[in-house]
Amino acid sequence: MNKYAVLYSEKIKEYKLEHVLTADRYQNFMDLYQEKLGSRKDFEIIVPDSATNDDLKLIHTEEYIQRIEQMRSLDPYDTPLSNGLVRAARLLAGAGKLAGELVCSGQYRKAFVVGGGVQHANRNQEKGFGVFSDIGICAENLKLKFGFNKILIVDTDAHAGEGLYEIFAGDPKVLLISIHQDPETLYPGKGFIHEIGSDEGVGYSVNIPLPPKSGDRVYKLVLEKIVVPLAEEFHPQIILMVDGSDPHYTDRLTRMGLTLRGIRMIGQIISAQAEKLCDGKLVDFIGSGYSSDSRIIPMGWLASISGVSGVDLAVTEPDPVPTEFKSDHGLEETQKIIELIRKQLAYYWKCFS
Ligand SMILES: [Zn+2]
Repeated sequence: MNKYAVLYSEKIKEYKLEHVLTADRYQNFMDLYQEKLGSRKDFEIIVPDSATNDDLKLIHTEEYIQRIEQMRSLDPYDTPLSNGLVRAARLLAGAGKLAGELVCSGQYRKAFVVGGGVQHANRNQEKGFGVFSDIGICAENLKLKFGFNKILIVDTDAHAGEGLYEIFAGDPKVLLISIHQDPETLYPGKGFIHEIGSDEGVGYSVNIPLPPKSGDRVYKLVLEKIVVPLAEEFHPQIILMVDGSDPHYTDRLTRMGLTLRGIRMIGQIISAQAEKLCDGKLVDFIGSGYSSDSRIIPMGWLASISGVSGVDLAVTEPDPVPTEFKSDHGLEETQKIIELIRKQLAYYWKCFS
């Protein structure tokens, strides 16, 4: 039987995260999780420990860790450090590390990190309410502990993962593909198609900016034309997904057009690649979502679990999807973006030449 680990600690609810990271998101998700998956024997909740300083040092500098512990914010307007935020960051970092180990040791087929997916923090700078890089620590630990040298990160969060880019731009062991809303129109203002890595890592970072309101069909096309061929050629030993609910059309911070069905579809396509290329090994970080409709955040996370695991959870849109998000909005522009990206990367990847 395939087993799935869901990494979650009740402690995260105690931390006051401020800003748009509403605390009720975790309880809302766990309520829905219990309703839909609570009785299944193939899903298991695993309570992670907080990351130790040695764990954090896999990515972050000692100086940075000390500054964070002293809560000396460099940019309090962007990321005001608080006891709650720092404790939560340590917990998520510990969860990310453990999730990778649970999958790679063969105990679980796949793992889901509830609340995870820190994209903006880099090695020595907190950003966008991200403090410690849970994904970075997960990847670096797998390199060290399991000798992995091919890790694929697929980041479909609506914001560009510029912190992850800064961490892995020079590293050819990590192929980072980020699909996000055009950074001309959204925080953090980075993630353009010319950002393709540096030094030895040139060609191992792929930024795919999409026009606002891009919906399910646009994402499907990008996955088919860029992500799948790259994954097949790279042939990863594990796939890490940065996922969540913020590309949903109801999100109030972003302006993408995915439906819950689209979020599920992304999980299905990436999971099929994991099955084909790396014995199913996949860790899914599900944490984003700022919808004005509080039902959407947990439903998006569950849609992702449904897609990745292949378990049909009947996650249906609570309200009818407006016509504009059923159209092919942005499809033509995206086709041009895809061609540009394929041309730019043709020198590094046979699948595009
Ligand atoms: Zn986001």
